[in-house]
Amino acid sequence: MLLALAFLVAAPAAAARPAAAPAAPDAEIRAAAERIRAAVVAVRRDLHAHPELSNREERTGHLVEERLRDLGLEVRHPVARTGVVGILRGGRPGGVVALRADMDALPIEEATDLPFRSLVKGVMHACGHDAHTAILLGTAEVLAGLRARLPGTVVLLFQPAEEGAPEGEEGGAALMVKEGALDDPKVEAVFSLHVGGWAAVGQAGFSDGPIFASSDTFRIEVEGKAVHGAQPHMGIDPIPIAAEIVEALQLIVSRQIDGRQPRVLTVGRIQGGTRFNIVADRVTMDGTVRTHDATVRSEIKARMARTVKGVAEAHGTTATLRFLDEGNPPTVNDGALARSVGIPALERVFGKGAVRVEPQMVAEDFPFYGQKAPYFYFLLGTRNDAKGIASVNHSAGFDVDEDALPLGVRAMATLAWDFLARRGR
Ligand SMILES: [Zn+2]
Ligand SMILES: [Zn+2]
Repeated sequence: MLLALAFLVAAPAAAARPAAAPAAPDAEIRAAAERIRAAVVAVRRDLHAHPELSNREERTGHLVEERLRDLGLEVRHPVARTGVVGILRGGRPGGVVALRADMDALPIEEATDLPFRSLVKGVMHACGHDAHTAILLGTAEVLAGLRARLPGTVVLLFQPAEEGAPEGEEGGAALMVKEGALDDPKVEAVFSLHVGGWAAVGQAGFSDGPIFASSDTFRIEVEGKAVHGAQPHMGIDPIPIAAEIVEALQLIVSRQIDGRQPRVLTVGRIQGGTRFNIVADRVTMDGTVRTHDATVRSEIKARMARTVKGVAEAHGTTATLRFLDEGNPPTVNDGALARSVGIPALERVFGKGAVRVEPQMVAEDFPFYGQKAPYFYFLLGTRNDAKGIASVNHSAGFDVDEDALPLGVRAMATLAWDFLARRGR
């Protein structure tokens, strides 16, 4: 992986000299993406009507497996519980690139009146993973149609549980990696996208560094001793102690971390007590920490532990801090890969619609693939105000402008091809 990376840094831009291996055949990819447009839209609508929660993507996984088999790909299923890995071996020798889509929906009751609205009560594709899956199936079809000239191997990762596995279960990108999705054949770079209302259809957002934040979910429990509310000195009141902890946590992010580093700490839930005149016996607080830097991330977590323990001790009680799962690392694009392959490919597909974006504080589990290979992640704009498609991800009214789907197919196919073409030179 490091060798491949060094090669990418050193190589001049593909357009700067005649390439030994062909760059992506843009016109053919474009024509193929247009040809299958209706089919990609149909898949997206079918998935939208049948959303499945994280680690429960049974129907979706089977649909994906069937389509990939129809295209003549090697298929592994299930991987990471309900995931699917498709392998497309090109007719020319070369490297190995992976493209990734997530497949899961959210526990949200859909509030749109789309003809293909969710048929599952309380479950909705409100993050656009239906579009991701449809785009990647379309990409597989486009690349399979050009297989004879494809200079290498494309691994298609259809991943479950991006939104987080149910409590007590493993899942998502981390489990895909653990189960060897990038190992055989050994993947040299991974590309992925996310749709959203952050930008209009026709636009793509990119970065050659941080693009999404890390996210860590925490729970703090403050022990108290319940007594009559008239005699708090007889017990231990955890409510003011919890309040002090909340304030002290904010002092970590505002006073103890370098001000140039993006970071957010939110306590989103506090629960404690039963009645107005009884001192609570315990307070539980849940929250999230986000950063764009792995070092800042671990620094904040260590300082939180010290603060929670110290404040509780000062009041003669104990408090525990627990991070509820492994958390997501920050999504930080590999600079060399972004500049040599990612950004030039997007600029060919989107033209002036490819724009640099500021890093966001939302998070993704995609960076787990970075344990195995450098990656490039970008945003695909799907908002269309004229059509009334303007809701944000994770809202009950979320929808995507389907005109973005062929653009997503073209972008993913071009990224894969360009990587392999450069790699093969
Ligand atoms: Zn989401
Ligand atoms: Zn998402």
